[in-house]
This record gives sequence, structure tokens and C-alpha cells, in this order.
Amino acid sequence: MQNGKRENKNTSPQKSKPGKRFRWWWLIYIILFGFIIFNFVFNNFFPSAKEITWQQFEKNILSRHAVERIAIVNNEKANVYIKQEFANDPAFKEVMKSVIGKAVSSGPHYQFRIGSVESFERKLDEAQKNFSEDEKINVSYIKQRNWFIDILSWLLPVFLMIILWQYFFRRMGTGGTAGGSSIFSFGKSTATLMEKENKSTFTFEDVAGLEEAKVEIKEIVDFLKDPVTYTKLGAKIPKGVIIVGPPGTGKTLLAKAVAGEAQVPFFSISGSEFVEMFVGVGASRVRDLFRRAKEKAPCIIFIDEIDAVGRSRGRNAFYTGANDERESTLNQLLTEMDGFGTNSGVIVLAATNRADMLDPALLRPGRFDRHIYLELPNLHERKAIFKVHMRPLVLDETIEVDFLASQTPGFSGADIANICNEAALIAARRKKEKVGKQDFIDAIDRIVAGLEKKSKIISPQEKKTIAFHEAGHAVISWLLKHVDPLAKVSIIPRGKSLGAAWYLPEERQLRTAAELTERLCATLGGRAAEEIMFGEVSSGSLDDLEKVTKEAYTMIMYYGFNKKIGNISFYDSTGMRESAFQKPYSEETGRMIDDEVRKLTDEAYQRAKNILTEHKEQLIKIAELLLQKEVIFKEDLEIILGKRPGDEKTGQPAEETQKMVAATTINK
Ligand code: ATP
Repeated sequence: MQNGKRENKNTSPQKSKPGKRFRWWWLIYIILFGFIIFNFVFNNFFPSAKEITWQQFEKNILSRHAVERIAIVNNEKANVYIKQEFANDPAFKEVMKSVIGKAVSSGPHYQFRIGSVESFERKLDEAQKNFSEDEKINVSYIKQRNWFIDILSWLLPVFLMIILWQYFFRRMGTGGTAGGSSIFSFGKSTATLMEKENKSTFTFEDVAGLEEAKVEIKEIVDFLKDPVTYTKLGAKIPKGVIIVGPPGTGKTLLAKAVAGEAQVPFFSISGSEFVEMFVGVGASRVRDLFRRAKEKAPCIIFIDEIDAVGRSRGRNAFYTGANDERESTLNQLLTEMDGFGTNSGVIVLAATNRADMLDPALLRPGRFDRHIYLELPNLHERKAIFKVHMRPLVLDETIEVDFLASQTPGFSGADIANICNEAALIAARRKKEKVGKQDFIDAIDRIVAGLEKKSKIISPQEKKTIAFHEAGHAVISWLLKHVDPLAKVSIIPRGKSLGAAWYLPEERQLRTAAELTERLCATLGGRAAEEIMFGEVSSGSLDDLEKVTKEAYTMIMYYGFNKKIGNISFYDSTGMRESAFQKPYSEETGRMIDDEVRKLTDEAYQRAKNILTEHKEQLIKIAELLLQKEVIFKEDLEIILGKRPGDEKTGQPAEETQKMVAATTINK
């Protein structure tokens, strides 16, 4: 995922130089082409016999008794040989010239197609019926091989295969990078090499926040710049550094910044580039990459999305045949990382968002001995990221970076980059000179909940149901103090949803059982409101129910929040059980978990219904206001429901924050 600047990845001068290499297949093409042309010219311009018709043959040659013999070739053609005295006879030649435009002097002189042997024999017998036995023509049947067709019939498939292979190998070889430019370089590494001339344009300045990660990474750059400072004290620099974090948190960006800052060659490759359908290619590419790197040492190798090769061995072996190839690639990677001495000057940088999937052997000290964990940015980091991405934008004075950062908890760096770009696009669409605060707010809404679809056809009854559903969410989340603060509620259809409530999640590390139960209650508030108001529920709660079910199971199975199940967690941080057939608990425990989940959700639903029944008047007021205004804000709710309990909470940096949108009504 890359927003903002682009790197000149594909312009590396270090890639293979095809122009200078001998393209052997061109020679084959030329020979084949020459061969076809030669045959065409030879057959068409220097034919051995002149083509005539049966009628011309019968009338002008046979009737004159000029035929010496006829040879039937391959049961297709009749080659006519003329008697010597006729061949040299000027009068006969003259006749032939006037009839067919040419008199041939060497045999076979003429040729015609016979259709079938039977019809030819019949016609010949008919034509010779007045001939004496001596005058009758000798007919022989011969088989003639066409060497051209013969050769072509075995050459052509070979050439076609070569062309097809070449085509596929090129395509698989990532379109002309070093590894894929020919069949023979297929096992070569496809890594892009950046050196001084084509260095990445990114620097640590472009990476906002991530201060701790930057310090760690900078140390590596420093080591490569000046190894003696470290080695003279006996320190060993890590061989590998793995950057782990959720998508869009700047892992690749950090690596690009290293490439830009380090004064050493930088090899960049994606884990998936090692994976091919041919066995052994991955391992060979790993070998080649490390060979190239050692030649250029000191240098850095960056492997993005390393989980493509580094997945735990044995995982999914049951279903996928690709396992052997991936395992041998991983083994080669492990061997290579063991193979070079700590201070040989090759440092491997890798990025993944699935560290739990990686093989433990890869992560052990001595290979990737430094682990850098990136998290979703906190308030200050978001502010810094906004500032980085606002640099190229033309902004007006309404922009408040603090406000935008506070409105985007749970957003990744990539999301923020996207918001900035989206805001600029919205401003351009509005024909504005500068990008303003409202453009940013609209961009956030669009990214959170999707594009507004005001044209969607919704019946008045449906609209009413949606309004009460969203009002239900609003009332409960307002009245329960542990639910994230509500920012606004809308019944304008956006993306897949028909209505939505926006929350501003607090940046917190921990949640208690009571807090999570209140969240379940708020999520079920929409459905509860529908039941109270209309006596029946609609299909619009699909998204809510899915969320509630997942959360309830998580509470009971992972967090140990249920007394009956006890202090047990079936969470598997290695991810090994994801594809396992067997559950890690007994049938009895399974049944107990199901019962407890049901109990938990039933209680939450009942509690939601109780709250809404108690505040039915306010619920109706909010729904009516929604029907009237379509979007209502925190301030409107405050007027109807009064001040929210515990409104004065403060935020802390959090890993587990949720995105702003919640309680959407799905259009299904
Ligand atoms: P993935 O795991 O999906 O590959 P990633 O962590 O590698 O994601 P990047 O490709 O590094 O994410 O980030 C995507 C974009 O997000 C960057 O190009 C950049 O524009 C923006 N971005 C992310 N983090 C930051 C940051 N800390 N500072 C500035 N921009 C950032």
C-alpha cells in the first residue's frame, strides 16, 4: 500500500541489460522465417512442372499422343512427362504456349490435380478408348515426401513451445526484472537494487511518529555508515530486523526511508517474488539474492511481506501442494541468514503484518534478532502524519490538525494519507482554490462509512425503521457510560449501509468485562428499538448481530470473562489452529460456551430493551429528529437526553482502538 510519493523502483540500472546479451532465440526466428520464405519462393517462382487442367491435358497433349508416361504422386497429382520429340518440337511448344502460356522443356513437364484415383482412371480410360494397346499411357503411382512440410511439422511445435515458454517466463518474472528476462535467468533473484544514482527519495523526515522504531532503524543505518564505532567495543550488529505491524502503519515506508538514508546499496524484494510454480526456483532466488548482496556488502536487503515465504513449516501442509516449495525456500532463507557472519555487512530488513504466522526458526536471535513492533498511531502521531501528508496540499486557514487527529482514532498512516488525498479531490470537485476543514470532514466520513448514496430508493416505512434503529443505538450508547462517545448519527445511505452511528473510540489499552458488555448492549440497541416500536425486527441488524456474536465469543473464549468457563483462553497466538479440524475444547465445553454466549447476548438485548422502554419518549424524539434532519450530532442528543454520564474521559494511546464507524444497518 503506497500513497504519496512513488519510488523509481523499475528504473534500476542494475537490472539485466538485455540489449547487450546475445538473444539466441532471434537466430532461431530468423532461420525459421528464412526457411518459410525460401520454400514459398522456390515453390511459387521455380516450380518443377506447369499446372494445367484435365481438359487442357486431354485436348492438347493426350490427343496428340505426346505423353511419355504419367506419375501419380501421393494419389493427388498427376505429373505428365512429354515424349522427347514433342518436348523439342517447336510446333508443339507453340501450341502449349498459346494454351497455357508456357512450354516446359524438362520433366515432369505438366501437372494436374486428379481428384481421386478412381475418377482419374475412369477419365483416362475414356479418353484412351480409341488408342491401341501400344499407344496407351503408362501410369505409375509414387509416394513423394515433402521435406518442407515434414521438417515444419516437427519444427513448428518446438518453436511454438519455445515462444510460449518465453512468454510465460517473462510474465512470471515480474515483467523484465532481473530474474524473469529469460528462461536461463529464471532462478535469479528479482530484487531491485537501489544505489546512489537511483536512491529512494524517502527520508526519515517523511516518516511521521514511530520515534522508537526510527531510533532502532537508524542504528542500523549508522552501523553500516560507520561499523568501527560498534565493532571496536566488541558489539555485534543484528543480522536481521523484522518490522511487524498492522496494515498501513508505515513498515514499507520505514524501509524506504532506510534506503534513502543509508549510504549503501539497498536490495528490495517482496516475499511473494520468491514463490513460483516451479520447484526449486524460490530457493535458487534466495541464493542468488544473497550472493548479489554479499558482492555489494555492506548493504541492506529488504524483504516486504515476508510471511509469503516465512510461514511456519508444516502449516496447511494438508491442503496445499505448494508447501514443499515454500518450505525449501524458507530453509534456504534460514541457511543464508546463518551463512554470513554477523559483521559481514549484509543486514536483512523484513516487514510483515502477520508475525504470528512466521516460522519460529526465522525469528530466533541470530536471524531476525530485532523485532520492531509498529502500532496504529496515537493522537500525537496522527497529528504528525497529517502534517506530513498536508505538505503538498494547498490549505486554507480553517484547517485544524489537532481536530482532525482527534477525529481519526484507529486510523493507520495509510488511512490518513488517503484522507488527505481524498480531501484534496473533494475540494477540487467543489472547484475550490484551497482545501478546507469541511473537505477533510467529508473525506473522513467517506472513508469511514463509504460514499453517500442519496439516490438510493428507500420507502417511507423503511426510512422510519432505519431512523428508529439508529436512534436505538444513539440512546443506549449515550446512556451507558462505558460505550465509546457518540459523535453523530445519520440515516443517509452510504456504501453498503443504510444508516450509521459514528463513535469516537477512546485510545485505551484495556477493556473490562463490564465495558465490553455495555458495548454489546449498544450494538443490539438498534434491533431492540425496532422491536419496541414496531413489534418486529428487520434484516437490517445483520452487521450488528455479526459483531455481537464475534465479540461475545471473544469475551468468553479468549478473555476468560465467563465464570462458568473459568480462567481459560482458547486464543492461539501462533495461528496454527486457524485451519485445524479439531476444536481445542471438548464437546461439553463447546456446548457450554455456546450456552454462555447465548446467555450473554440475551442479557445484553434485554438490558437494551429495558433502557429503551424506559426512555421511549426520547427514542421517539431522536428518531423524529433524524427523519427530519437525516444527520444529527452530539449536541442534538445532548438537548434531548441531557449530559452524557462520564463525558469527561481522557484518551491514552491504544493498540486496540476501533474505527469510528459502528452500528451500521446493512442493506441485505
Ligand atoms: P502493509 O502491511 O499493508 O504493506 P505498510 O505498513 O507497509 O502496509 P506502508 O506501505 O509503509 O504500510 O504505508 C502506506 C502509506 O501510508 C505510506 O506510503 C504513507 O503514505 C502512509 N504512511 C503510513 N505510515 C506513515 C507514517 N508514519 N508517516 C507518514 N506516512 C505514513
